[in-house]
Amino acid sequence: MVLLPCPHCGPRDAAEFGYVGERAARPDPGAATPQQWRGYLYLRRNPAGWADELWLHRAGCGRYLAMSRHTVTGDIRAVRDAATGGAD
Ligand SMILES: [Zn+2]
Repeated sequence: MVLLPCPHCGPRDAAEFGYVGERAARPDPGAATPQQWRGYLYLRRNPAGWADELWLHRAGCGRYLAMSRHTVTGDIRAVRDAATGGAD
């Protein structure tokens, strides 16, 4: 069983979480070009290494979590609530 750390619930089974996607800084709506919006909406880095991701603890507290996770090893070095400490 793979355990993921939730800052609100503690270590929980990874099946309780849903992967939302890579975190990316949202462009300024008043100044962004169509190319910048396309990049924000559709283009991802998909690294083989450390990635900043957004996860939802759907079977627990129901909060969005900002997670720094290694995509090859599955190691996790930081998890925080996306609403309070993980927003860009
Ligand atoms: Zn939780």
